[in-house]
Amino acid sequence: MFLSMSFRLRVEVEALNMVEAMGAYSRHRTVSLLKPRSDGKGYRLVIAPAVSGQAIAYGYMKSLVELAQKRNLPVCDQCKSYEDKGGFIKHGTDKSGDLEELVKNCVVEDVTGFMVAQAKIRRTSPIQFSYMVPDIDASDVAIDPQFHVRGAKPGENPQPFQVESGTAVYMLGVSLDIDKIGVVPGGDGKPKVVVNNRIERVKAAIQAIANLLEGLSFGAKKARYLPIYDVIGAVTAVSHPVQFMVSPARVTKNDNYIARTIARASNYTKLFKDVNEVIKIFYMDKEGVISESNVKAEGVEVEKVGDVAELTSKVVEFVVKMLGGGRA
Ligand SMILES: [Zn+2]
Repeated sequence: MFLSMSFRLRVEVEALNMVEAMGAYSRHRTVSLLKPRSDGKGYRLVIAPAVSGQAIAYGYMKSLVELAQKRNLPVCDQCKSYEDKGGFIKHGTDKSGDLEELVKNCVVEDVTGFMVAQAKIRRTSPIQFSYMVPDIDASDVAIDPQFHVRGAKPGENPQPFQVESGTAVYMLGVSLDIDKIGVVPGGDGKPKVVVNNRIERVKAAIQAIANLLEGLSFGAKKARYLPIYDVIGAVTAVSHPVQFMVSPARVTKNDNYIARTIARASNYTKLFKDVNEVIKIFYMDKEGVISESNVKAEGVEVEKVGDVAELTSKVVEFVVKMLGGGRA
């Protein structure tokens, strides 16, 4: 079973991912994006503010440590003390190790992957994050240098400095390979379940996505740059047995991510009819980009939700039902 999600975030005046540390000028991270030309012929490159997938993943791991401990799921000492250690080391400096033991002993390492170079063991992260990038089809973006002055000590001159802040409607993609949670490759090449609390781990992994977004657990500089922030839309698909990715949460003049995902999912289930492909779609739409009469599609169940919390609880409910029913 595979979970794919794309979110639309309206974010004003954020400095969530700065490239330089202390200095007179803190630049915002930027990326190059393609914007369709207004004459309909090709694309042009636009430089836009962004937040790295690594920054998002770090916030997610923080959320997962908290939630796993509240659920009495195992978290190793290194992950528990990530603040003291300055990050998630995940046994990366160990001389030896056992993949199965590491997965058993820590939900963070199970869900977010790791590498112990000297022991030659690695785990690909079941959870994946995109960069958070602006939807430049739907709105403009801004990167504004903000002037600040550092309070001077007596006898010194005030120190001016600047911080670039970003404003945009951002898109964020998240996917979770549910089949991999609590599972390692077995000796016979088949996946091997090595934990006895798989469903609880899956729940925590999905709920941590909600905490990441609704609890704003990601990003830096929030003491003075707490973003003006709202999740304004999302589309989510749970697929089984063949992996399906939702369309990026983009809105254009003639198309939107929800309609596009539903249409693609419908064709996809037809393509994989012979293996009984199931796709369940949930969406939230605070912008009114889609009318409810347009959400029906052959072979795909579609359900509307009000916010991220409802989205998450419906996804968890559906996933647990599939896991419990032995269908996935
Ligand atoms: Zn750990």
